[in-house]
Amino acid sequence: DGKLYSQIKDPKHYGRKVLTEFVKAGAPEEILYVSKPHIGTFRLVKMVENIRHDIESLGGEIRFQQQVTDVLIEAGHLRGVVLASGEQIRTDHLILALGHSARDTFQMLYERGVFMEAKPFSLGFRIEHPQTLIDQARFGKHAGNPLLGAADYKIVHHAKNGRSVYSFCMCPGGQVVAATSEPGRVVTNGMSQYSRAERNANAGIVVGITPEDYPGNPLSGIEFQRQWESRAFELGGGNYEAPGQLVGDFIKGIKSSQLGAVEPSYQPGVHLTDLAPSLPGYAIEAIREALPAFERQIRGFSMYDAVLTGVETRTSSPLRITRGQNLQSLNVQGLYPAGEGAGYAGGILSAGVDGIRIAEAVASAMLGQAD
Ligand SMILES: Cc1cc2nc3c(=O)[nH]c(=O)nc-3n(C[C@H](O)[C@H](O)[C@H](O)COP(=O)(O)OP(=O)(O)OC[C@H]3O[C@@H](n4cnc5c(N)ncnc54)[C@H](O)[C@@H]3O)c2cc1C
Repeated sequence: DGKLYSQIKDPKHYGRKVLTEFVKAGAPEEILYVSKPHIGTFRLVKMVENIRHDIESLGGEIRFQQQVTDVLIEAGHLRGVVLASGEQIRTDHLILALGHSARDTFQMLYERGVFMEAKPFSLGFRIEHPQTLIDQARFGKHAGNPLLGAADYKIVHHAKNGRSVYSFCMCPGGQVVAATSEPGRVVTNGMSQYSRAERNANAGIVVGITPEDYPGNPLSGIEFQRQWESRAFELGGGNYEAPGQLVGDFIKGIKSSQLGAVEPSYQPGVHLTDLAPSLPGYAIEAIREALPAFERQIRGFSMYDAVLTGVETRTSSPLRITRGQNLQSLNVQGLYPAGEGAGYAGGILSAGVDGIRIAEAVASAMLGQAD
């Protein structure tokens, strides 16, 4: 939804360039100076349209509804792509910015021998509280002051079982949204409009996991995600409602049967249940420990009626398409894995910064060829 902050190292200040381009494309100018810039979903859509027109005016072409289904590799060199229509596009330089849910394309690249490796990511739930509760905890007597807007938070807890539990993609005054990309699975995420004026605050409450939790091949993390996403679909009643539980019931380990003061925002709906079977035991244990501990940082955080909705599995890519020299694939020259799906970004700003780095690498390779 356009929270534009990132913790990446950015010695060349490419993040500033990304923000400047966004303003040119219609983002509010304040993103250049406020500490945690946010655009909101509606404005972001308009901006992407403007960026598209810009690309077209510079001679670029956007092809909608077309899928790359194969890559042509000859003796370790990228030579082109094949589209679902059967059309072949010959090229010596391909930037693959797939996003973290292009599971079919990851599979195809793996079968073609492109080097990739499993990487850590996180699993968990979305939590929803009344926004007023978060404002009160963060701003005290100044809660509700229009100059302050809706409060956010960022919290972390290191659990006794060695796992870290942390808040992810906190959305003040927003809603929990459906983010599955496959039938028979349920995945949650969150977003806010620019105004951040909706009744609930939401955030992912997620637990860090590593390839040791899903041993096998580089695609094992995807299978692990699928397993829990399918479980969430079943626990939600098999009709794309998300499984949910009151925080108080979750801590006690009892099934929820009735909502309290917090009305969840997820559409098409939340199916109350026991969330314990929806994630690995170590994740449930760590989150059960973390929620009361977060109370020390945000009073009311473990309020009985706060709602947990499952499952959050797409915090970042479960694999990395590893880059080597000049940001090209480790074993396929001319192939430039980029952005979040390749494991080199974790959000809008960092994906934009990575895009600039990749563009420079391609330009320098092409100049080298011209010499
Ligand atoms: C609900 C939600 C809210 C979010 N909110 C924020 C936020 O506030 N701030 C933030 O920083 N990040 C946010 N994110 C994350 C952010 O959207 C991503 O980190 C970012 O979009 C990654 O950019 P990318 O260019 O690497 O990949 P993407 O934006 O995922 O783009 C990948 C593109 O590749 C296409 N593609 C994949 N495979 C193929 C193929 N075989 N052929 C052709 N095309 C293909 C996909 O269709 C897609 O269009 C949010 C994500 C979600 C889902």
